[in-house]
Amino acid sequence: MKAAVIGAGWAGLAASVALREAGAKVTVFEAGHTPGGRARRVFHDEFEAPLDNGQHLLCGAYKETLALMRRVGRNPDALLMRRPLRLASLDGRFHLSAPRIPAPLNMALAVLRARGLSWGDRFAMLRLMRGLKTMSWTPPRDWTVLHLLHYHAQSDVLIRQVWEPLCLAALNTPIATASAVLFARVLRDSLAGAREDSDLLLPCTDLSALWPDAAARQVTMRYGSTVRQLHPSADGIDINQERFDAAVLAVPPTYAARLLDGPLRKAGATGLLDALKAFDYLPIATLNIRLASPWRLPEPMMMLREDAARGHAGQWVFDRAQLAGDTKAGELALVASAAVGMGERNRRQVIEALIDQVAEQAAAHPLRLQPMPDVSAAELFIEKRATFAAVPGLIRPLNSTPWPTLALAGDWTDTGYPGVLEGAVRSGLQAARVLNPRAD
Ligand SMILES: Cc1cc2nc3c(=O)[nH]c(=O)nc-3n(C[C@H](O)[C@H](O)[C@H](O)COP(=O)(O)OP(=O)(O)OC[C@H]3O[C@@H](n4cnc5c(N)ncnc54)[C@H](O)[C@@H]3O)c2cc1C
Repeated sequence: MKAAVIGAGWAGLAASVALREAGAKVTVFEAGHTPGGRARRVFHDEFEAPLDNGQHLLCGAYKETLALMRRVGRNPDALLMRRPLRLASLDGRFHLSAPRIPAPLNMALAVLRARGLSWGDRFAMLRLMRGLKTMSWTPPRDWTVLHLLHYHAQSDVLIRQVWEPLCLAALNTPIATASAVLFARVLRDSLAGAREDSDLLLPCTDLSALWPDAAARQVTMRYGSTVRQLHPSADGIDINQERFDAAVLAVPPTYAARLLDGPLRKAGATGLLDALKAFDYLPIATLNIRLASPWRLPEPMMMLREDAARGHAGQWVFDRAQLAGDTKAGELALVASAAVGMGERNRRQVIEALIDQVAEQAAAHPLRLQPMPDVSAAELFIEKRATFAAVPGLIRPLNSTPWPTLALAGDWTDTGYPGVLEGAVRSGLQAARVLNPRAD
């Protein structure tokens, strides 16, 4: 089979691996120049090692992603730092850490021993998890996360301290508008799964080097090659006027809608076209800073306290030098999810406020951390369309299309997950199966 994949994000590359393994000759069209899509390496003159277009975090429940890394010869144990779930605020006021004992005891103990929560809040957290289990982890489709939290009587402190940052990290959507179904799914697969599922997996290398580079080496890559024409039919598909037996379209839904507008209308599949057009998107900002001298955080990933009025918009800070095993440098990445409006503000002021947020909260840590050294370089990435808004009732297309020669892939397809890496990988594998049932 002569197969094409359009889009070299994690979804498209997952599809290319599965199709190649099933015997197809695969060509990947990618508009950009680096494999990885929204999770890719970028270079910057003032930083010695490559950066990412946005700091990413994986977890132990990302089973298909971890298996795929192995399939292309990459070792997740060496490339990802695996740590039991630990949420610790940089100012030292909050700490929740899962012991290495079997689930579900590990989570129960983590919650009961949490620092910075009242006993009432600790029991409320456990009640919510038990309540979700009783609902078979399926709250009503039209509920928001806030609705779910209020239904289970979670206090404002608990919401602000635990649920809001978790929801933003997993769904990139504020609790007032985020889908309770998708949030429950994430909690089920991570916190309520086997002990290892809740582990945090922190990349120790750039995102393209994790596995997209290796996957890209196995197929014919056409970088800088934007697909502008797509004509699927029952026995083949024309892409930019070149004939293929089959293709996976693994681009964001807005682009898929543009490419398929004519063909879907002709096929009378306007329902699918409407679904592709119905997605809204939310931004994520990542500030990378290089410090004038080495500086270690107590944990490689720590929570930040938000204070919107002061521009303290970050929720997490990652110690990139610690993750890379570099003892001679100080390098941090600060993440602000659902950073709506940040792109329109004064860039220098945004950067200064975020740096101030880290310095101030580190200074409050009871371990008396060294004061944060001066910042020697800063680069702010704002991905305007980082993920789709994971709102209740969203209709997400399946991988199949009206044509047997074309399948869809992307974190936005009906994966059951919000817009995350594991969803992208699963969708790519599923799209390959749609075209060739032997592709797995
Ligand atoms: C800043 C940021 C932080 C994130 N943090 C996390 C996290 O911590 N954990 C997590 O699990 N997920 C996270 N995500 C989400 C995760 O990155 C995505 O779910 C995943 O990368 C989506 O992969 P994809 O293949 O579906 O889409 P994409 O990565 O968008 O891939 C689509 C590809 O298609 C290409 N393309 C588009 N149109 C065309 C065309 N016409 N012709 C050819 N090529 C085309 C694009 O260039 C792109 O490479 C984050 C996302 C961002 C942006």
